[in-house]
Amino acid sequence: MTSHPSPSGYRGLSLWHDDPTLDWTPQDPLTGSTDVDVAIVGGGYTGLWTAYYLAKADPSLRIAVLEREVVGFGASGRNGGWCSAIFPATLRRVAAGTTRDAARRMQVAMNDTVAEIDKVVAGEGISCDFKLGGYVSVARNEAQWARAQAEVAGWREWGFGEDHMRLLDRAEADDRLHASAVFGGTFTPHCAALNPARLVRGLAEVVRGLGVRVHEATGAEELSPGLVRTSRGDVRAGVVIRATEGFTAQLPGYRRAVVPMYSLMVATEPLPEDVWERIGLRSRETFSDKRHLRIYGQRTGDGRIAFGGRGAPYHYGSRVKPGFGQNPRVHAMLRRILRDLLPDLGAADFTHAWGGNLGIPRDWYPSLSFDRATGMAHAGGYVGDGVATSNLAGRTLADLITGRESDLLTLPWLSRQSPKWEPEPLRWLGVNAGTAVFATADRTEARTGRPSRAASSFWKVLGH
Ligand SMILES: Cc1cc2nc3c(=O)[nH]c(=O)nc-3n(C[C@H](O)[C@H](O)[C@H](O)COP(=O)(O)OP(=O)(O)OC[C@H]3O[C@@H](n4cnc5c(N)ncnc54)[C@H](O)[C@@H]3O)c2cc1C
Repeated sequence: MTSHPSPSGYRGLSLWHDDPTLDWTPQDPLTGSTDVDVAIVGGGYTGLWTAYYLAKADPSLRIAVLEREVVGFGASGRNGGWCSAIFPATLRRVAAGTTRDAARRMQVAMNDTVAEIDKVVAGEGISCDFKLGGYVSVARNEAQWARAQAEVAGWREWGFGEDHMRLLDRAEADDRLHASAVFGGTFTPHCAALNPARLVRGLAEVVRGLGVRVHEATGAEELSPGLVRTSRGDVRAGVVIRATEGFTAQLPGYRRAVVPMYSLMVATEPLPEDVWERIGLRSRETFSDKRHLRIYGQRTGDGRIAFGGRGAPYHYGSRVKPGFGQNPRVHAMLRRILRDLLPDLGAADFTHAWGGNLGIPRDWYPSLSFDRATGMAHAGGYVGDGVATSNLAGRTLADLITGRESDLLTLPWLSRQSPKWEPEPLRWLGVNAGTAVFATADRTEARTGRPSRAASSFWKVLGH
């Protein structure tokens, strides 16, 4: 189990935690056993969005959010701040278990979710530098350019037009993001950049205002129908929601449910205006390129670049530790990739380096469930795309629990169960082999321009 860092320790967790406007002192720990209608374990976006929509739908509900550390300790406080319409499972995978129409509706629901978050953030006055500037992804070798073209053609086959995703020629891509070696790219308007910690902390304030009890420094030790045993007392509840994402494997009974993968990030100092004039991102578009091992960046509200990527090792036995977010090799690699991508950065300093654990289900397909008979519910498994997906999960769980009929209840991700991960050492071998295959493929493609067969085969194994 994780130890509790001091409030100043929390401040060191990421660029976003190191924010003088945020106070990380744990608030309102549980003081003895209690009864509620809904107990939510995990104070990240999933837990808080669910609490928000439940409290809005039925103000009489007694809701408690139980957070072992502080709200925003997990991925919700540390992420890249892309509020995107990316659903981690491909539409092909979604349609395979349902219909093409259901898969299309899933994507439309994701697009709508970005707009929903915009609406709530503005309506509730959450100050989180939200900017709906879209997402530009550049292709930087022939293999990446071929993927960009195939991606856009794929969206057309699904009936999504230019307003969903469009191909950019070299000049258009360059106009949005002046990166090196650009062949072209893609652009979607369905993505916003935001400050993740301010969103999660702001949400906690909003739900407290709606009467939800948010107990920090209150770790759940066991979840069962009607009861959450915590370090500070029992919480008896009609409904128990598991919203622990990348920490789920630490809970008894869930060791093989989701793999905690670390994604690591770095941030530059605030860049001067003349550098921004050269780099672009005038609408604060989020950005990446088309490599296999995903990278992601944003122009922050205070003019930095926050930039992250996969590539950190998976730790045997699904272990999770704050220290795993610090990996000098991967952080140096990220700084190198960003300088190579954006030569206009020049000698800009990097001020922050951090990481966090996200949750990967065995089939890379997020899920949510509510069993009315036992009162047990869960949502998660968003891979690296949980900022918006968790909102959709929260709205859907609220409808399920309050019994409100809605279109959300017909979306195909409901009540699907992802298979369990393999026992160790197979899990460790498989996950780290995947990372190695993608890293090698990216290097080979950059050198030869030819699409990597090994990477395509691995994507197929993952259902892409
Ligand atoms: C570095 C990084 C970058 C990312 N970038 C993006 C991005 O740009 N866009 C995007 O869409 N997604 C991104 N993601 C993924 C996204 O952040 C997550 O999918 C999302 O935040 C998950 O929210 P959550 O509430 O389900 O989980 P979390 O935010 O991880 O919250 C779970 C909470 O549960 C608490 N908890 C755990 N165990 C217990 C227990 N036993 N008792 C009580 N509390 C417990 C934890 O302390 C934690 O606060 C990124 C993730 C990382 C790590």
